This record gives sequence, structure tokens and C-alpha cells, in this order.
Amino acid sequence: MNFDILTLFPEMFEGPFSTSILSRAREKNLININTINIRNYAEDKHNTTDEPPYGGGAGMVLKVNPIYKAWHDVNENKSESTHTVLLSPQGQSLNQDKVKELSSYKNLTLICGHYEGVDERVRKSIVDEEISIGDYVLTGGELPAMVLVDAVSRMVNGVLGDNDSSKKDSFYEGLLEHPHYTRPREFAEMKVPEVLLSGHHAKIKRWRLKKSLKRTLNRRPDLLEKKDLTKKQKKILKEVKREMKGENNEQN
Ligand code: SAM
Repeated sequence: MNFDILTLFPEMFEGPFSTSILSRAREKNLININTINIRNYAEDKHNTTDEPPYGGGAGMVLKVNPIYKAWHDVNENKSESTHTVLLSPQGQSLNQDKVKELSSYKNLTLICGHYEGVDERVRKSIVDEEISIGDYVLTGGELPAMVLVDAVSRMVNGVLGDNDSSKKDSFYEGLLEHPHYTRPREFAEMKVPEVLLSGHHAKIKRWRLKKSLKRTLNRRPDLLEKKDLTKKQKKILKEVKREMKGENNEQN
């Protein structure tokens, strides 16, 4: 999968993309990440890429021409077309379903705004969709682009050692994941649950599903409302609710 990132600050990407899982995925050519400096496409001798907004007001706006030229330069010779995303606080919120959808494209071009954002004609001419990473405003689209590339790369076959591990993560199947434990068996008088030491795979699987349902119920009931639970999940959820009721009654 290919990511082309149009940015005024390519140096920001060096650390995150040269570390750990993403670095290994790049070495194996499972993903290619190409950062393109918008400034290289400026059209005047001062390399201007931003100017004050028409109509007045604070801040600077990224000019349309350098971004448009950079986008064409990167994409004109591609055999398969690219899907272009503008990172923007006004876009659709990024979630796991969107991440899965984006991982189906062979080529993604990401445009990072900065300052007050980009000239509206960037969006109108080359952008397929706008994506936000949350309801808050950052100084630029670089961190959101890193978040998006990281999340989408995890969906690419071979990037995670065990392809199934992402399928067990929170949100993939509409639930939060169960808690994890590793050595030591006891820490500060807190013991690892016995069932996890039992070696009984069916019991461990059931315990994990129950914990996952309980966590989702407690922390993100909205996810349960959206999910079509299986018969088995419904049964275990009932059990969880019954137990929680019992716990509350005991406390009262
Ligand atoms: N003036 C814009 C507004 O009010 O909608 C905000 C511009 S912001 C300071 C500069 C750039 O950061 C944006 O063009 C966008 O690329 C990026 N950005 C900021 N917050 C973001 C978010 N929550 N999600 C995605 N991109 C964001």
C-alpha cells in the first residue's frame, strides 16, 4: 500500500515512521510512505506557500497552486488512481470502520493543512474526502496524518506479526478488548485470574468474551447498542448484567 503525504513539514514524519512496526513494514515493502514537501512546488522566488485570507482576518491560508501541482506530480504516472484525503477538523471522524475502508485502497494521498487551513479550492479540485481525528483543533494535519497512516497500516496484511491480532483489538468487531496479563503471577497482592493459568482454552475464550462485553457495557454502552450480538454474546451479556446487579445490591 502506498501513502503519499503532502506537507510543509516532512521532517515531522521521520521519527514515527522509522520506528518499530511501521519501520519493519516499510523495510519489507508492505507499505511505502512518501512525504512530499509542498514548498518545492511554490511558484515564486520566495517559495511562498501561504498567504493572508481574502476578506481579512487572522492567520494564513495554504495556497491552492503548490498543493495542486504537488498532487499532480505525485499521481500523474500512477497505474491505479489515488484516493485523496484532506486532514481537517471539519471532516468525518476517523473510526475503525473508516480505517478498514481506507486500507482497501492501493494508493492514498494525504494532504496536511496548516495555519488557518487550505484554500477551499484544494478541497473542491482534488479531495475525495475530509477526515478528522477528533473534535479539537491541532496546529497542522501532520499528526492526524501520522495517526491515520499508523491505523491503516495495521490493517495491511503482514504488517502485524499475527494478522489475526488486529481482529481481536478493540472496535474491530464492535467491542472493547478484554484485559491482558503477563508475568509475574502476582503484583502488589493482585493475582492473575486463575482461569488464564488453567490452560483450558475454551474457558479462557469464554472469560475473555465476558470481560470484553463487561468492559464495553461499562465504558462504551453506545457500541453495544450498534452491534448485532450473537446468541452466545447475548447470553453472556445477560449473565454480566445479572452479576453487576448482584454486586450493586450487595453494596447498597
Ligand atoms: N481554521 C480551521 C477550522 O477552524 O476548521 C482549523 C485549521 S487547523 C489550525 C490547521 C490544520 O490542521 C487543518 O487544515 C488540518 O489539516 C489540521 N487539523 C487540525 N485539527 C485537526 C483534526 N482534529 N483532525 C484532522 N486535521 C486537523
